[in-house]
Amino acid sequence: MILSPRGTARIKSGHPWVYRSDITTAENIPPGAIVHVADHRGKFLGSALYSSSSTIAIRMLSRSTPANPEAEIADLPALVSDRIRAAIAYREQVVSDTDAYRVVFSEADFLPGLIIDRYSDVFSVQILTQAIDCDTVRGAIIETLVAKFNPAGIIERVDPRIRELEQLPPRDSGLLWGKKSSTIITMNGAPTRFPESREPRAEDLSSGIRLHYDGLAGQKTGAFLDQRENYAAAARYARGAALDVFCYQGGFALHLARKCSTVTGVDSSRPALEMADKNAALNFPGREIEWIEANAFDLLRDYAATGRRYDAVVLDPPAFAKTRRDLPKALSGYKELNLRALKMLQPSGILVTCSCSFHVSVAEFMDVVGAAALDAHKSLRVIETRGAAKDHPVLLNVPETGYLKCLIFTISN
Ligand code: SAH
Repeated sequence: MILSPRGTARIKSGHPWVYRSDITTAENIPPGAIVHVADHRGKFLGSALYSSSSTIAIRMLSRSTPANPEAEIADLPALVSDRIRAAIAYREQVVSDTDAYRVVFSEADFLPGLIIDRYSDVFSVQILTQAIDCDTVRGAIIETLVAKFNPAGIIERVDPRIRELEQLPPRDSGLLWGKKSSTIITMNGAPTRFPESREPRAEDLSSGIRLHYDGLAGQKTGAFLDQRENYAAAARYARGAALDVFCYQGGFALHLARKCSTVTGVDSSRPALEMADKNAALNFPGREIEWIEANAFDLLRDYAATGRRYDAVVLDPPAFAKTRRDLPKALSGYKELNLRALKMLQPSGILVTCSCSFHVSVAEFMDVVGAAALDAHKSLRVIETRGAAKDHPVLLNVPETGYLKCLIFTISN
């Protein structure tokens, strides 16, 4: 397979992807094959996974280096097992205080198209490319997880849209191994030792926050694992009355409930709020946490107009910029949200503001919040500039792996 000069430049810059338009010759290559990749002069660059349908035609698996010029891949299932074990070893180094974390994150773990999450004793596997979908690789994934963790269940979560894009036959989500597909996870503290039958007591609350996970429920449940360390960071600074906007199933809100006197969560999804309420009962039985079903933009406008005040506000909206073209609209959406939040924040209040749009850089996001601060006539002090939890690795030279921004500010006037 021969790349164009542009495709070659991309691989040489350290990026693992080549778009179809940057491939010069690719004939009769079966879907999901391992291909030898050469530059426009014919020099061998390495081995890659090929997709016959995705606009990303090539995802590099191994690069030709002086130490390993052949970059040969003889056995894909064996390579997948080795890389899963390496990904697990990295988590053993950087993950603590949780039984829920991302075990494998696709390109960021050199396994393009494979995502594995651990939710305590239940594992979730997502397969996103033709090469990873074959039976021998599936077998290797299960075998490696069973050998290492002996899980009670391994489920596969299928995104029908992705299977269609990759021209893979339709498949249902379901159990791949074991019997269990739902469980309770514990993060940012030790797993709770008390039996399920006993209600938690005050002393138990030094342990982690517990969340329901149901891998096969209609709407995905469980936390956004990439925000796990940011939940704990937010709770380090927030006090008083807290508002969690775009709260989903309560990730930030429940962590804030440990430190704040009142907590309100807002989301437009009723099923998410119902789960948030169940999660609240699991951690703080008898305590009132308010969940409001609303459009966040409308609610913030009303609240700001009626003079509501908070000591801490979290903003964690869905990605506004799905493509580069959405960028201007996305930036104005971020500005509006942050402006409204800032208007409601008390002096010395805390703003935790997030963006998971890869197309919005940290610098652009800072600028937007800065512009909102000027409009709100407030000075902000940066307490922390954060990203995704360390189990979502960011690869230097692969900018797409660093999508999440989480900025924490205090209002200094
Ligand atoms: N903070 C959450 C994740 C938020 S994901 C956590 O840590 O778990 C984004 C959430 O925004 C989703 O739950 C979605 O239902 C909600 N959402 C999307 N558009 C919205 C809108 N206009 N108003 C309120 N909520 C919205």
